[in-house]
Amino acid sequence: MAIPEIRIHAHAKINLYLEVISKRSDGYHEIETVFHSIGLHDDVIVRKRSDRAITVRCDDPQVPTDARNLAYRAAKLLTDFRPGIPGVEIDIQKRIPVASGLGGGSANAAAVLWGMNQLFDLNLAQPELMRLSARIGADVPFCLLGGAAIGRGIGEVLTPLPPLDNAWIVLANPGFGVPTAWAYDNINFPLTKSSKNVNILVCHLHNGELESVAAQLFNRLETTVNSKYQSVAKLKTKLAACPGSFGALMSGSGATVFALVDSQHQANAAVSIIGAAAAFQAVTYLSPVGLSLD
Ligand code: ATP
Repeated sequence: MAIPEIRIHAHAKINLYLEVISKRSDGYHEIETVFHSIGLHDDVIVRKRSDRAITVRCDDPQVPTDARNLAYRAAKLLTDFRPGIPGVEIDIQKRIPVASGLGGGSANAAAVLWGMNQLFDLNLAQPELMRLSARIGADVPFCLLGGAAIGRGIGEVLTPLPPLDNAWIVLANPGFGVPTAWAYDNINFPLTKSSKNVNILVCHLHNGELESVAAQLFNRLETTVNSKYQSVAKLKTKLAACPGSFGALMSGSGATVFALVDSQHQANAAVSIIGAAAAFQAVTYLSPVGLSLD
Protein backbone atom coordinates (compact mmCIF):
# COMPACT_ATOMS: atom_id res chain seq x y z
CA MET A 1 0.00 0.00 0.00
CA ALA A 2 1.30 3.48 -0.88
CA ILE A 3 2.43 5.55 2.14
CA PRO A 4 0.46 8.82 2.61
CA GLU A 5 3.38 10.99 3.81
CA ILE A 6 7.14 11.05 4.22
CA ARG A 7 9.16 13.01 6.83
CA ILE A 8 12.67 14.02 5.88
CA HIS A 9 15.63 15.74 7.54
CA ALA A 10 17.03 18.13 4.91
CA HIS A 11 20.61 18.90 5.93
CA ALA A 12 22.47 22.18 5.44
CA LYS A 13 25.86 22.32 3.69
CA ILE A 14 29.02 24.31 4.21
CA ASN A 15 31.72 25.13 1.66
CA LEU A 16 35.21 24.22 2.88
CA TYR A 17 36.66 25.79 -0.29
CA LEU A 18 35.13 28.08 -2.91
CA GLU A 19 37.10 29.52 -5.81
CA VAL A 20 35.45 31.48 -8.62
CA ILE A 21 37.03 30.48 -11.94
CA SER A 22 35.28 32.73 -14.47
CA LYS A 23 32.05 34.44 -15.43
CA ARG A 24 30.17 32.66 -18.22
CA SER A 25 28.40 34.44 -21.06
CA ASP A 26 25.02 33.42 -19.54
CA GLY A 27 25.89 35.37 -16.36
CA TYR A 28 26.55 32.32 -14.14
CA HIS A 29 29.96 31.82 -12.53
CA GLU A 30 32.14 28.75 -12.97
CA ILE A 31 33.34 27.68 -9.56
CA GLU A 32 35.45 25.04 -7.86
CA THR A 33 34.09 24.23 -4.44
CA VAL A 34 34.24 21.57 -1.74
CA PHE A 35 30.85 20.94 -0.15
CA HIS A 36 30.24 19.11 3.11
CA SER A 37 26.86 18.26 4.67
CA ILE A 38 26.35 19.21 8.31
CA GLY A 39 24.03 17.95 11.03
CA LEU A 40 21.85 21.11 11.14
CA HIS A 41 18.67 20.35 9.21
CA ASP A 42 15.16 21.49 8.34
CA ASP A 43 12.24 19.08 8.73
CA VAL A 44 10.33 18.58 5.49
CA ILE A 45 7.07 16.62 5.38
CA VAL A 46 5.67 15.67 1.97
CA ARG A 47 2.03 14.47 1.93
CA LYS A 48 0.14 13.02 -0.99
CA ARG A 49 -2.90 15.10 -2.05
CA SER A 50 -6.06 13.79 -3.66
CA ASP A 51 -5.90 16.47 -6.38
CA ARG A 52 -3.05 17.87 -8.54
CA ALA A 53 -2.36 21.00 -6.46
CA ILE A 54 0.98 21.78 -4.80
CA THR A 55 0.87 23.63 -1.49
CA VAL A 56 3.70 24.79 0.78
CA ARG A 57 3.56 25.77 4.46
CA CYS A 58 6.57 27.08 6.34
CA ASP A 59 6.94 28.17 9.98
CA ASP A 60 9.32 31.01 8.94
CA PRO A 61 7.41 34.01 7.52
CA GLN A 62 10.52 35.16 5.57
CA VAL A 63 10.21 32.14 3.30
CA PRO A 64 7.85 32.47 0.31
CA THR A 65 5.27 29.66 0.06
CA ASP A 66 4.34 30.22 -3.59
CA ALA A 67 6.11 29.27 -6.83
CA ARG A 68 9.26 31.12 -5.63
CA ASN A 69 9.82 28.42 -3.00
CA LEU A 70 12.47 25.94 -4.16
CA ALA A 71 10.55 23.06 -2.57
CA TYR A 72 7.47 24.06 -4.59
CA ARG A 73 9.60 24.19 -7.74
CA ALA A 74 10.91 20.70 -7.03
CA ALA A 75 7.37 19.31 -6.72
CA LYS A 76 6.27 21.12 -9.89
CA LEU A 77 9.25 19.75 -11.79
CA LEU A 78 8.36 16.16 -10.84
CA THR A 79 4.63 16.52 -11.52
CA ASP A 80 5.46 17.96 -14.98
CA PHE A 81 7.99 15.17 -15.57
CA ARG A 82 5.53 12.43 -14.52
CA PRO A 83 2.09 13.91 -15.34
CA GLY A 84 0.22 10.91 -13.85
CA ILE A 85 1.13 11.63 -10.23
CA PRO A 86 -1.02 13.61 -7.77
CA GLY A 87 -0.06 16.89 -6.12
CA VAL A 88 1.57 17.24 -2.70
CA GLU A 89 1.28 19.23 0.50
CA ILE A 90 4.73 20.32 1.72
CA ASP A 91 5.37 21.35 5.33
CA ILE A 92 8.73 22.96 6.13
CA GLN A 93 10.00 23.50 9.67
CA LYS A 94 13.00 25.81 9.34
CA ARG A 95 16.11 25.52 11.48
CA ILE A 96 18.63 26.49 8.79
CA PRO A 97 18.86 30.31 8.70
CA VAL A 98 17.45 31.73 5.45
CA ALA A 99 19.78 33.21 2.78
CA SER A 100 22.75 32.36 4.98
CA GLY A 101 25.10 30.43 2.65
CA LEU A 102 24.02 27.11 4.19
CA GLY A 103 21.87 26.00 1.25
CA GLY A 104 18.59 25.68 3.14
CA GLY A 105 16.28 26.23 0.17
CA SER A 106 18.31 23.80 -1.96
CA ALA A 107 18.14 21.17 0.82
CA ASN A 108 14.35 21.58 0.97
CA ALA A 109 14.09 21.10 -2.81
CA ALA A 110 16.31 17.99 -2.66
CA ALA A 111 14.12 16.58 0.14
CA VAL A 112 10.97 17.03 -1.96
CA LEU A 113 12.50 15.31 -5.02
CA TRP A 114 13.80 12.43 -2.88
CA GLY A 115 10.55 12.20 -0.90
CA MET A 116 8.22 12.23 -3.93
CA ASN A 117 10.38 9.60 -5.65
CA GLN A 118 9.66 7.30 -2.68
CA LEU A 119 6.09 8.42 -1.98
CA PHE A 120 4.95 7.68 -5.53
CA ASP A 121 7.33 4.75 -6.26
CA LEU A 122 8.71 6.66 -9.25
CA ASN A 123 11.89 4.54 -9.30
CA LEU A 124 13.99 7.42 -10.59
CA ALA A 125 17.64 6.44 -10.20
CA GLN A 126 20.00 8.82 -8.35
CA PRO A 127 21.74 10.10 -11.55
CA GLU A 128 18.38 10.98 -13.12
CA LEU A 129 17.15 12.68 -9.95
CA MET A 130 20.42 14.66 -9.78
CA ARG A 131 20.16 15.70 -13.43
CA LEU A 132 16.59 16.94 -12.84
CA SER A 133 17.59 18.69 -9.59
CA ALA A 134 20.18 20.89 -11.36
CA ARG A 135 17.26 22.66 -13.10
CA ILE A 136 16.14 24.01 -9.71
CA GLY A 137 19.47 25.39 -8.52
CA ALA A 138 23.21 24.78 -8.60
CA ASP A 139 23.38 23.50 -4.98
CA VAL A 140 20.42 21.08 -5.22
CA PRO A 141 22.41 18.17 -6.76
CA PHE A 142 24.87 18.29 -3.85
CA CYS A 143 22.04 18.39 -1.30
CA LEU A 144 20.68 15.19 -2.91
CA LEU A 145 24.09 13.51 -2.95
CA GLY A 146 25.13 14.64 0.55
CA GLY A 147 28.33 13.83 2.45
CA ALA A 148 31.32 15.55 0.85
CA ALA A 149 32.04 16.38 -2.79
CA ILE A 150 33.95 18.68 -5.10
CA GLY A 151 31.56 20.82 -7.14
CA ARG A 152 32.63 22.19 -10.51
CA GLY A 153 30.72 23.92 -13.33
CA ILE A 154 28.28 26.13 -11.41
CA GLY A 155 28.53 23.64 -8.54
CA GLU A 156 26.40 20.92 -10.11
CA VAL A 157 29.18 18.73 -11.57
CA LEU A 158 30.04 16.61 -8.55
CA THR A 159 32.88 14.30 -7.61
CA PRO A 160 32.17 12.52 -4.31
CA LEU A 161 34.79 12.69 -1.54
CA PRO A 162 35.07 10.73 1.70
CA PRO A 163 33.15 12.66 4.37
CA LEU A 164 35.00 13.61 7.56
CA ASP A 165 33.63 12.17 10.75
CA ASN A 166 34.18 13.15 14.38
CA ALA A 167 34.41 16.82 13.40
CA TRP A 168 32.53 19.47 15.36
CA ILE A 169 31.33 22.68 13.82
CA VAL A 170 30.33 26.01 15.32
CA LEU A 171 28.06 28.18 13.18
CA ALA A 172 27.60 31.90 13.73
CA ASN A 173 25.45 34.28 11.71
CA PRO A 174 25.16 38.06 12.21
CA GLY A 175 21.40 37.99 11.56
CA PHE A 176 21.13 39.24 8.00
CA GLY A 177 21.17 37.55 4.61
CA VAL A 178 23.59 38.24 1.78
CA PRO A 179 22.01 37.97 -1.69
CA THR A 180 24.07 35.34 -3.56
CA ALA A 181 23.81 37.22 -6.88
CA TRP A 182 25.18 40.42 -5.28
CA ALA A 183 28.23 38.60 -3.85
CA TYR A 184 29.13 37.03 -7.21
CA ASP A 185 28.49 40.21 -9.17
CA ASN A 186 30.88 42.18 -6.98
CA ILE A 187 34.00 40.02 -7.39
CA ASN A 188 36.79 41.71 -9.28
CA PHE A 189 38.05 39.80 -12.32
CA PRO A 190 40.75 38.79 -13.19
CA LEU A 191 41.39 36.99 -9.93
CA THR A 192 44.78 36.47 -8.39
CA LYS A 193 45.49 32.80 -7.69
CA SER A 194 44.32 31.52 -4.30
CA SER A 195 47.08 30.90 -1.76
CA LYS A 196 45.21 27.72 -0.75
CA ASN A 197 45.06 24.58 -2.82
CA VAL A 198 41.95 22.45 -3.36
CA ASN A 199 44.02 19.36 -4.22
CA ILE A 200 45.85 19.58 -0.89
CA LEU A 201 42.53 20.00 0.92
CA VAL A 202 41.10 16.93 -0.88
CA CYS A 203 44.21 14.93 0.05
CA HIS A 204 43.70 15.82 3.74
CA LEU A 205 40.01 14.87 3.48
CA HIS A 206 41.08 11.45 2.18
CA ASN A 207 43.41 11.13 5.18
CA GLY A 208 40.72 12.38 7.59
CA GLU A 209 43.01 15.10 9.02
CA LEU A 210 40.77 17.85 10.36
CA GLU A 211 43.55 20.25 11.36
CA SER A 212 45.21 19.98 7.93
CA VAL A 213 41.83 20.45 6.19
CA ALA A 214 41.34 23.61 8.27
CA ALA A 215 44.69 24.99 7.05
CA GLN A 216 43.37 24.94 3.45
CA LEU A 217 39.96 26.61 4.07
CA PHE A 218 39.32 29.27 1.42
CA ASN A 219 36.38 31.30 0.12
CA ARG A 220 36.87 33.79 -2.74
CA LEU A 221 33.62 35.62 -1.84
CA GLU A 222 34.84 36.55 1.66
CA THR A 223 36.70 39.71 0.62
CA THR A 224 33.67 41.04 -1.25
CA VAL A 225 31.25 40.28 1.61
CA ASN A 226 33.66 41.60 4.31
CA SER A 227 34.13 44.89 2.47
CA LYS A 228 30.40 45.63 2.84
CA TYR A 229 29.60 43.74 6.07
CA GLN A 230 32.45 44.15 8.59
CA SER A 231 30.47 42.17 11.20
CA VAL A 232 31.08 39.00 9.15
CA ALA A 233 34.87 39.49 9.28
CA LYS A 234 34.67 40.21 13.03
CA LEU A 235 32.70 36.99 13.66
CA LYS A 236 35.26 35.00 11.70
CA THR A 237 38.16 36.47 13.72
CA LYS A 238 36.34 35.64 16.97
CA LEU A 239 35.54 32.08 15.90
CA ALA A 240 39.09 31.43 14.68
CA ALA A 241 40.47 32.59 18.05
CA CYS A 242 38.27 30.30 20.20
CA PRO A 243 40.18 27.56 22.09
CA GLY A 244 40.10 24.31 20.09
CA SER A 245 39.26 26.07 16.81
CA PHE A 246 41.37 24.77 13.91
CA GLY A 247 40.18 27.52 11.57
CA ALA A 248 37.12 29.49 10.46
CA LEU A 249 35.54 30.45 7.12
CA MET A 250 32.45 32.10 5.65
CA SER A 251 30.17 29.51 3.96
CA GLY A 252 28.96 30.10 0.38
CA SER A 253 28.03 33.74 -0.15
CA GLY A 254 27.60 34.26 3.61
CA ALA A 255 26.79 35.60 6.00
CA THR A 256 27.21 32.42 8.10
CA VAL A 257 30.73 31.77 9.37
CA PHE A 258 31.78 28.35 10.65
CA ALA A 259 34.71 27.01 12.66
CA LEU A 260 36.11 23.48 12.63
CA VAL A 261 36.54 22.57 16.28
CA ASP A 262 38.41 19.83 18.13
CA SER A 263 35.61 18.58 20.44
CA GLN A 264 31.95 19.05 21.32
CA HIS A 265 33.02 20.52 24.65
CA GLN A 266 35.13 23.20 22.93
CA ALA A 267 32.37 23.85 20.38
CA ASN A 268 29.94 24.55 23.25
CA ALA A 269 32.52 26.82 24.89
CA ALA A 270 32.99 28.73 21.61
CA VAL A 271 29.25 29.44 21.50
CA SER A 272 29.46 31.03 24.96
CA ILE A 273 32.47 33.11 23.91
CA ILE A 274 30.72 34.39 20.76
CA GLY A 275 27.64 35.28 22.83
CA ALA A 276 25.70 38.29 21.62
CA ALA A 277 28.13 38.98 18.74
CA ALA A 278 25.98 36.58 16.65
CA ALA A 279 22.21 36.62 16.14
CA PHE A 280 22.25 32.87 15.38
CA GLN A 281 24.74 30.32 16.59
CA ALA A 282 24.74 26.54 16.77
CA VAL A 283 26.95 23.58 17.50
CA THR A 284 26.70 20.84 14.91
CA TYR A 285 28.86 18.20 13.21
CA LEU A 286 29.99 17.24 9.71
CA SER A 287 27.37 14.81 8.40
CA PRO A 288 27.94 11.86 6.04
CA VAL A 289 24.43 12.38 4.55
CA GLY A 290 22.41 15.25 3.07
CA LEU A 291 18.96 13.66 3.52
CA SER A 292 17.64 11.20 6.04
CA LEU A 293 14.26 9.88 7.15
CA ASP A 294 12.85 11.52 10.27
P1 ATP B 1 22.90 28.96 -1.12
O1 ATP B 1 23.98 28.72 -0.12
O2 ATP B 1 22.47 27.70 -1.85
O3 ATP B 1 23.10 30.13 -2.00
P2 ATP B 1 21.36 30.20 0.93
O4 ATP B 1 21.51 29.40 2.17
O5 ATP B 1 22.23 31.41 0.84
O6 ATP B 1 21.57 29.28 -0.31
P3 ATP B 1 18.49 29.95 1.05
O7 ATP B 1 18.23 29.79 2.51
O8 ATP B 1 18.36 28.75 0.21
O9 ATP B 1 19.90 30.65 0.78
O10 ATP B 1 17.51 31.12 0.57
C1 ATP B 1 17.80 31.95 -0.53
C2 ATP B 1 16.51 32.65 -0.95
O11 ATP B 1 15.64 31.68 -1.50
C3 ATP B 1 15.78 33.29 0.22
O12 ATP B 1 15.87 34.67 0.09
C4 ATP B 1 14.34 32.80 0.13
O13 ATP B 1 13.43 33.86 -0.08
C5 ATP B 1 14.29 31.91 -1.10
N1 ATP B 1 13.71 30.57 -0.83
C6 ATP B 1 12.98 29.87 -1.70
N2 ATP B 1 12.63 28.69 -1.19
C7 ATP B 1 13.15 28.61 0.04
C8 ATP B 1 13.13 27.60 1.06
N3 ATP B 1 12.47 26.46 0.91
N4 ATP B 1 13.84 27.85 2.18
C9 ATP B 1 14.52 29.02 2.34
N5 ATP B 1 14.53 30.00 1.42
C10 ATP B 1 13.87 29.80 0.27
